Amino acid sequence: MNAGAPVRTTCPYCGVGCGIRATPIGDRALKIEGDAGHPANRGGLCSKGTHLGETVDLAGRLLHPMIAGKRANWGKALDLVARRFSETIAKHGSDSVAFYVSGQLLTEDYYVANKLMKGFIGSGNIDTNSRLCMSSAVSGHIRAFGEDVVPASYDDLSEADLFVLIGSNTAWCHPIVYQRMQAAREKRGAKLIVIDPRRTETCEDADLHLPIRPGSDVALMNGLLAHCLRAGLVDEAYLEANLSVPQGFWDMIDQGSDLWSVAKTCDVAPDKLLHFYELFAAHPRTVTMFSQGINQALRGTDQVNAIINVHLATGRIGKPGAAPFSITGQPNAMGGREVGGLASTLAAHMDFAPGNVALVGRFWSAPRMATKPGLKAVDMFRAVEEGRIKAIWVMATNPAVSMPDASRVRDALAACPFVVVSDAMADTDTGRFAHVRLPAAAWAEKDGTVTNSERRISRQRGVLPLPGETKPDWWIIKEVAARMGWAGAFAYDRPADIYREHARLSAYQNDGVRLFNLRSHAAIGNPAYEAMEPYRWGKTPFAGGRFSTPDGKARLVTTVQAALPEPLKDWPLTLNTGRYRDQWHTMTRTGLSPKLARHREEPLVEINPYDAERLGLAEGDIARVATPQGESLFRVMPSDGQRRGEIFTPIHWTDRQSSGGRTGLLPRPLTDPHSGQPGFKSTPAKIEKVAVEWRAFLILRGEAPASLPPALWATRITVPGGMLYELAGSGDDKALDAWLPAGARMEAADPARGTRRIAVVDGERLAAVLFLTRTGELPGRDWLIAQLDAPQVAPTLLAGRAPGATPDRGPVICVCFDIGLKTIVAAIAEQQLADVGAIGKALGAGTNCGSCRPALARILADSGAVSEKIHAAE
Ligand code: SF4
Repeated sequence: MNAGAPVRTTCPYCGVGCGIRATPIGDRALKIEGDAGHPANRGGLCSKGTHLGETVDLAGRLLHPMIAGKRANWGKALDLVARRFSETIAKHGSDSVAFYVSGQLLTEDYYVANKLMKGFIGSGNIDTNSRLCMSSAVSGHIRAFGEDVVPASYDDLSEADLFVLIGSNTAWCHPIVYQRMQAAREKRGAKLIVIDPRRTETCEDADLHLPIRPGSDVALMNGLLAHCLRAGLVDEAYLEANLSVPQGFWDMIDQGSDLWSVAKTCDVAPDKLLHFYELFAAHPRTVTMFSQGINQALRGTDQVNAIINVHLATGRIGKPGAAPFSITGQPNAMGGREVGGLASTLAAHMDFAPGNVALVGRFWSAPRMATKPGLKAVDMFRAVEEGRIKAIWVMATNPAVSMPDASRVRDALAACPFVVVSDAMADTDTGRFAHVRLPAAAWAEKDGTVTNSERRISRQRGVLPLPGETKPDWWIIKEVAARMGWAGAFAYDRPADIYREHARLSAYQNDGVRLFNLRSHAAIGNPAYEAMEPYRWGKTPFAGGRFSTPDGKARLVTTVQAALPEPLKDWPLTLNTGRYRDQWHTMTRTGLSPKLARHREEPLVEINPYDAERLGLAEGDIARVATPQGESLFRVMPSDGQRRGEIFTPIHWTDRQSSGGRTGLLPRPLTDPHSGQPGFKSTPAKIEKVAVEWRAFLILRGEAPASLPPALWATRITVPGGMLYELAGSGDDKALDAWLPAGARMEAADPARGTRRIAVVDGERLAAVLFLTRTGELPGRDWLIAQLDAPQVAPTLLAGRAPGATPDRGPVICVCFDIGLKTIVAAIAEQQLADVGAIGKALGAGTNCGSCRPALARILADSGAVSEKIHAAE
């Protein structure tokens, strides 16, 4: 560990895989900078990466093994895990146990877990949370190319003349890739088309936005291919030499492919659709980038193949600036795919064909090889529920929140005879069901490799020492394997030992049939591994027109648009789910950052203003969103970016942070038939207003208690020096007072207006404030939050503002420079700012990580309307 010297490592959030220089600056603190030498980001970082340093202290960490809620030592915990798994296997067979792992694991962790389950336990029952985000892309690649190879790289973004983003809010979810595309647009005039039912910030600056009906993507892409055929763009020579075309394929493409029919199916204007076709036709160098909007669908694999069909048939693949590009959500989803961490793959891009099982068995000297795929995530937890799986080990993920129909997953875990959870955090929704909890290393302490969306393998290096008794995941798994009787096969001393073996397996008896081949790293020495620079395997996949199928030809796949469901009488809306810009997964890490929390402080349900008015919902109301699976509360946000009849909720909130916002309770556990990926994007739903009699906020100094205040609506965010709770409820509000700490109290109450304001002072400093109203307005929170750090209590505390007027800056838009909406709107009006660059010059907003630049563009476009809205609220 190099105290004080920058360590080159990789961002742990999204699949862009940005390089970071992390410098320890004292006890458990890091200075974070983008790594200018990393090809993925060339020094840039988005808001999440920029604020990683706020998430590395020990708050909330699991630091010791726990058995039945009590601290235990490693020997006891590991012995118990090994014994219970061995006993279960002996009594009920190999398929009675399972591992549920994560795209947060490093490749070395993943490799050891996969080897233990598939080569030694002898079951395919290891699946990963990547099943939930990109397994349809995996299935689509295998169907088309014969191997799960992403045929694009970020270099293609510098070469393309047209970007088609489909089902991808890239500006929020993959900001650095979005910025690279924007740079190409500025430099070379490349065009941007966004296809998304929602008008997201990614659409703000696009040349064309097609807000298609959810689930109509196959019709859209088949229509595009039919247009290409009619326009003579299908590359007949390439098709003849390199593609295998199923019988009836072109008839299928021709059916219902006229402009009017496609426009009707997709519910877009025919002239806009034609514009899309013409832009596509005019720009052979096209990168079509897709992510969750395509993958998380009940026909996700067909949607992927409909995109790939167009690229294959027009020869837009294997050339600079032309490729379909599945961009992954998690930092190491791709590494997991490479080792075979999905239940449907075996190892090193091999499937369960008997020859592959024999090959891998030989390589591992495995005593008991799995011979068939295991259970995919949804089926795995169903097997737990039905008692077929009797012992499960969950690593680095939170299925009690993130799985569809999450309450059923909770019931399954509660009933499972033996649950092991290895995690960095002490209190997760899933960890509450664990019989054994094992303390795992977190990002800043982990050492190994990750693979990003463009197949680039980068080192993740430990920057901080392992705290408490935490251990790397690979070490925990190998210790359990040793106790189950396989010490020799798992005798790894360091991540480099595992990486070498992984590289050797990729090359083992690989005569070129598998593109994934790390032969050049098969004998990498420890110093070389330590110093390894980021490198991309497979230079330009499929450049020569040869694919990983037995005959070397890619396959066009018959994809038929499924009938689109009409709104149901009892469930008239369609629920879509997704991410926020500044949060990651279930907020166990980003939730620790006060700056990231300010972008979106509560879980919102976004609804078209027409629907909101029709249903009696106003901005800021609390509403119940219900589906056939479950229900949860959300704060209402009307948004004209939503199509009528559709609502959107974020995936991040858990029981830890909110009494509502539990999106995971809402989707159906229905999956794509090929990939097993759940269809998170289109659940029948309804919404209704929930009447509340009072609204309040509570600011507490210090760390958050484990529970939430007693209120119908209670959400929590981290703020500098403490916690901010937003609250709402009905009836008596006195129970909230129990949440105030001991200390001298100042109180002001107006019973006529139902207002209470309480401040608690501990010595000279503010310990808490509770502001509540039944009829009036609550003051802004910023000044009161700042008082947590003030050396003395301000005399105007109960007024909620500093002596004299302090302008409320509104919700934070630029988290890097802490600049709010009202400040930006005022500057636009007063200084006549005309573009995003001018806002940057005036305020600094958007000049650091750049994540807020699409939001600034939107504020500029809407500035008149925004000003009016703010004044109306005042
Ligand atoms: S785009 Fe942002 S979240 Fe994704 S890897 Fe880069 S810095 Fe991290």
